[in-house]
Amino acid sequence: MIGEEAMQKRALVVGLGIAGMSAAIGLRRAGWTPVIVERAAERRTEGYYIFLFPEGVRAVADLGIADHLHTRNPEWRPGGNSWSVDRRGRRKPVLGLLDAPSGVAAVLRGDIEAALWQGITGDGAEDAVEVRFATTPVEITEGAGGVRVLLEDAGSGKQYREGFDLVVGADGMRSSVRRMVFGPDEDYLANWKAMICAFQMKEQVPSYEASDSVIVSRPKRAMWVFGLADHAPCAWLTYRTKGIPDRFAGPSIEQVRAAFSGMDDDPVVRHVLHSLEQAPDHVFDSIHQVRMRRWSKGRVVLVGDAAWCMNTYSAMGSSSSLRGGAALGVALREHPDDLSAALDAWETGLRPYITRQQRSARIKQQRFVPSSRLAEALGSVVLDLIRRVVHRRMAAEYTAWSALSGTAR
Ligand SMILES: Cc1cc2nc3c(=O)[nH]c(=O)nc-3n(C[C@H](O)[C@H](O)[C@H](O)COP(=O)(O)OP(=O)(O)OC[C@H]3O[C@@H](n4cnc5c(N)ncnc54)[C@H](O)[C@@H]3O)c2cc1C
Repeated sequence: MIGEEAMQKRALVVGLGIAGMSAAIGLRRAGWTPVIVERAAERRTEGYYIFLFPEGVRAVADLGIADHLHTRNPEWRPGGNSWSVDRRGRRKPVLGLLDAPSGVAAVLRGDIEAALWQGITGDGAEDAVEVRFATTPVEITEGAGGVRVLLEDAGSGKQYREGFDLVVGADGMRSSVRRMVFGPDEDYLANWKAMICAFQMKEQVPSYEASDSVIVSRPKRAMWVFGLADHAPCAWLTYRTKGIPDRFAGPSIEQVRAAFSGMDDDPVVRHVLHSLEQAPDHVFDSIHQVRMRRWSKGRVVLVGDAAWCMNTYSAMGSSSSLRGGAALGVALREHPDDLSAALDAWETGLRPYITRQQRSARIKQQRFVPSSRLAEALGSVVLDLIRRVVHRRMAAEYTAWSALSGTAR
C-alpha cells in the first residue's frame, strides 16, 4: 500500500530513451510523479536494429506495454536465414542470434521507444507523464529533504530551479547527470578501442532474400546486415582501432571507408558502403563500457547506459535498460518510506545480472569482430557445430509445425 506521502513524491528523469521511459513507467506504478526532460526538441522515432533478449521481453510485459511492442522476426526457413561471406565471395549458412532457443525478438530501437511512449502517455491526459523537450539540467544540488535542479530551456535560453525528491539520470553513455554528480567521464568510461557505425538500409544486398542476414567478418573489422520481416535491413559495421578518432572531426563516412579499404572488392561490402552514403542518418561512435561501483548517490540514481553501458557487442543494453527501469519502480514500491533502502535493494538485485552481461560482452565481441585470424577460424568451427545441431532441431520443428497447421511451406 502506498502512503499518501509517497503519492506526492516527484522525480526528475533526465533522458527520453529506453532507460528513462522505463524508469518513468516504473516510478508512476510506484505512486511517484515523474517529470521527463529531454535534450532533443522532439521524440526520436528512428533507430538501429536491436536484439531484444528474454529479460527485455519480460520487462516489457512487467511494464504493461507488451501489447504495444511491434516485433519483426523473419520467418525461419530450413537452412536458416543468416549467411557468412568468405574471402572468395562464397556464402555459407551461419548460426544467427535469432536461432537461439530462448526467444529473442528482432526490433528497431524505435519500436521499443514507441511502445514505451504509449506507456508514458497512458490512456488519457490524467495518466500521462509530463515530458519537457529541449530541456537539460545544468546544476544538481542535494539538500536536506530534496534535490534542487537548475534546468535550462534550450529554445528560450531560460533557466529555472525546481525541487524533486529523486533525480534519475537516464541520459546515455556520456551522461551529464553522472558528470555533475559522480565525476568526469574518464573515471567511468572503459575504452574498448573500437568503433561502431549503424544505419537503416534502403534495400537488401542484391541476390539475398529481403529478410536475410549477411555477415562479412574479418580480423578486426566486420560488417553485418540484419534482415527484418517487414522492414528494410539494418547495417552494423564495426572495427577495432588503437586510435579512437574525434568522432566529430571530419566526415565519418570517410573514416568508415578507410577502415574497410581492401575489403571493398566484395559486392556485399560495396553495397553496404554505398548504402551508408545514401542513408539520411547513421550512428558513428567509439565503443566503451561504463563501470561504476555504485549507481546512486543520495537522491540521484543512474539507469541504463548512463550507469552500466554494456556496449553494442553485448546486445543487452536495451534489455537491461528496460529491466533496470522496471526494477527501480518495484524497489520504490516495496520501500515507500525509505528511499535509500529502495535504492540499495534495487542495486543489490540488479548488479549480478549487469556484471554477468558486462563480462560476457568480451566473448561476444569475438563473435561480432574477431581479434585475429585464429579467433576467426576457431569461432567459425565452434559456431558451425552448434549451427548443425540447432538447425536440425529447428528443421524438425518446422516440418512438424507445417504438418500440424496443414500449411504448404
Ligand atoms: C549500433 C548499436 C546497436 C545496438 N544493438 C543492441 C542490441 O542488439 N540489443 C540491445 O539490447 N541493445 C543494443 N544496443 C544498446 C542499446 O541501444 C542501448 O543500451 C539503449 O538504447 C540505452 O538506452 P538509454 O536510454 O540508457 O540511453 P540512450 O538511448 O542514449 O538515451 C539517452 C537519452 O537522453 C537524452 N539526453 C542526453 N543527454 C541529455 C541531457 N543532458 N539532458 C536531457 N536529455 C539528455 C538523449 O537525447 C536520449 O534521448 C545497441 C546500441 C548501438 C549503438
